Amino acid sequence: MNSSVYQSILEAIMRPCVQTTKALPILDHATIPTTVGPLGDSPVQIACPNCHQIVLSKVDYSAGLLTYIFCGGLFFCCCLIPFCVDRLKDAKHTCPICKTVLGVYKRL
Ligand SMILES: [Zn+2]
Repeated sequence: MNSSVYQSILEAIMRPCVQTTKALPILDHATIPTTVGPLGDSPVQIACPNCHQIVLSKVDYSAGLLTYIFCGGLFFCCCLIPFCVDRLKDAKHTCPICKTVLGVYKRL
């Protein structure tokens, strides 16, 4: 009699513990490799949608809106400087394996 009471109490205590250890779906998300943050002006680790590889994106800089704004704001002799500064240009991310364009980071 006593042992069955202890058994039922033990089962009542143990049951919620078993349920809480099962409900941990957060760990599954951490193991799936996905894009690390939004695209910026420097290479990022990204999953290529074309060749399905996790690659470090290759960044090409091209003159964007911010480049032309800085160009217009400078004197004639200095107006070409923004075209030489990568920080003022748009950054195009491409896959180094299949050359697919993964995204473009625009300054403005
Ligand atoms: Zn690729």
